[in-house]
This record gives sequence, C-alpha cells and structure tokens, in this order.
Amino acid sequence: MGGFGKTLPIHGSVGVAPRPTANRYASPHGGRRIYPPSRRGSDVAARFTYDGGAVDPGETQNLRFTVSETYLGDPVRIPVTVVNGEREGPTLCLTAAAHGDELNGIEIVREVAHEWDHTDLRGTLVCLPVLNVPGFIAQQRYLPVYDRDLNRSFPGDDSTTSAKRIAARVFENFVEPCDIGLDFHTSTRGRTNMLHVRADVDDPSVARVANAFASNVIIAGEGPSGSLRREASAAGTSTVTVELGEAHRFQRPLIDAALEGVLSVMAEFGMAATETVKWPGWRTVIDASEEKTWLRADAGGLVEMHHDRGALVEAGEAVCTITNPFKTDATTVEAPFTGVLVGVLENPLVYPGNPLCHLVSLDEPTLRAFRRRQSGTE
Ligand SMILES: [Zn+2]
Repeated sequence: MGGFGKTLPIHGSVGVAPRPTANRYASPHGGRRIYPPSRRGSDVAARFTYDGGAVDPGETQNLRFTVSETYLGDPVRIPVTVVNGEREGPTLCLTAAAHGDELNGIEIVREVAHEWDHTDLRGTLVCLPVLNVPGFIAQQRYLPVYDRDLNRSFPGDDSTTSAKRIAARVFENFVEPCDIGLDFHTSTRGRTNMLHVRADVDDPSVARVANAFASNVIIAGEGPSGSLRREASAAGTSTVTVELGEAHRFQRPLIDAALEGVLSVMAEFGMAATETVKWPGWRTVIDASEEKTWLRADAGGLVEMHHDRGALVEAGEAVCTITNPFKTDATTVEAPFTGVLVGVLENPLVYPGNPLCHLVSLDEPTLRAFRRRQSGTE
C-alpha cells in the first residue's frame, strides 16, 4: 500500500468521506504536508478507534491491549495511551522497547504521554511505551518465545508465528492508522550510541520527520525487512528510528535531548502551535556511499576507550588501546579518518573481530560547524 492513497488521517471514524489526495499540499520544507494545520469549519478532531474501543476528541485513554496469550492462557497485554486533541491534526505514533531491554525510549514515551500538557494539542498521540512486553519482563532483547525479533516481524500476520501475530495486533490497531512515527531504540547490550536518527531519506515524507527530529547524525537507509520503521513507512506511516544510549538504562541527558526532538517533530507537523522546529547546529547524513565504519579489534583483550560516544576524533588519533592481563603488548587502534564516534563499546572485553566503535566521517563544512559548537562560539 502506498502512502499517498491512504485515507487514514481520519483514523477509521464512521461516515466520514476519505480525504482526497489534493488536500495534501506541499509544505514549505519540500516534503508533503500530511495534514493542514487548520481548516476553518472543520477544526474538530476525529475519534481514534482500535479493536474494542474508541478515543473521542479531547479524551485521553490509558488501556492495556491484548496482543497474545501466555502458556497459562492469560492475556499478554501492552500498555497504550491515546491522547486525542480537541482540534484536528496529524496522528503521531511513539513506540519503544520493541527490543525488550532497550529502556530509554520507554521513559521518553511515558513523559510525552503523561507529563506534557496537551491542552493545545492538534491531532492525536498514540503512545506505546513497551511493545515487546514478554521481552521486557525477561529483560532481554528478543521475544522469549523462540527468541524471535519483534522488530523483524512487522507488519505482522495473524495466521503465522507468535511474533508476527503480536506484530499484526500492534501494527493494524496503532501503527498503520497514524500519519507519522518515531520508534525508539538503544544500542545492543554492551555498546552505546550517541543520539541519532535512522531513516529512509529518499522518501520525502520520511526525510521530513528525520530532519524535524533535529539530531546531528542521520543514518540513511530504508532499514531491514520486517523492521517497524520500514514496514510502517511502506504502509504510509512515515516512520524513523531514533537510537540513543545503551540497553538496561535510563540516561537522562539523552532522554531530554530526544524529548526536544519529539517536540520539534510536533512543531513541524503543526501539532504544537507554540513550538518551533529546531536546528541541531550541525548535521550529517550518512548513506551507504559515504565513509563510515565499525572499527574492529585485531587482538583479543581488554579495551580502554579514549573517547566518549559523540566525540570527534582526528585521523591518526588513538581511539582505544587493547591490552592483555599483564598490560603488555598493547595494541593501539587509530582512527583511519577524521570523524565522529556514533557508537562505542561499553563492555571492555573483545575477541579479534569484535566491534570497537562506529566511526562516521564529516565533510569540511560539517566539521567546521561541529568545532564551532564544541568551542562554544555559536
Ligand atoms: Zn533496538
């Protein structure tokens, strides 16, 4: 299903004619405007409906939505909060913990849902803080049922595996009915990421979400088959992945920065009239043709990192040192080019071949902007 033919801004309300494509006018930012911020005479929001219920304009609903059943036959239910603004606008889906041990996004989604003042909200927020409830309870990345990856199971299928059935319940009821989506992740256990966005920037409507989030780094690409952002975007819900920090943690500075990004996206799409779209100071979009690399260990041992995530390292500079238990035969790993450390390892133990850090190059103008930011002259 293509994004342009979809009539979902009216999210399933009965008796309302589908909005013609012509109503989607071009935005000043070059992407398509999904929803006019205001149209006189029809400024009242629509109901948000899901299997078993509906949320009226001006209403906030907390619900526990059944996605599967345990071995005991009890329901497996995910927490959902739908905040429906009194006035119409786009529908934004916020999802976290598709990987059950990735916690930062949970706090982001909870704060948006429950701590922000939504009096002036235009449109609807669909907040899913814990997608993978079985993985969350076990504090592991994958669904404990045969270790399936929920984030490779979208859009789901209600007649095949347990993972795809769960995915289908989530996707059909809460993801696909939305216009835009932010899916929050962290690095895999043992590593950490600087805040960055992963997005298919070749799709203008997805690029608009990615740019509005205002992170310094965007990693381009449509994402793996079955991932939430790829399948949601293909179904017309323009979705990006937001990566921040490490698993098993709440990391306050990263959470705060991501909350700023959410607000910036809401500003871009006319959901928060008093907010403005942010500019991160410098930005680099990394695609497959550009220089980026995971530096890997060529020796086994214990790693001492010399830089934090998000740091700039110069070509030839020592990134980290690998030593043995006797602190002899040190192997120094140097940066092959000047770039920013998007991801670094946290667990300091490596076999040869294990990743040490994710280094991406910056072009000259971006480097200058980065250095201006660092020296506080901007
Ligand atoms: Zn993840």
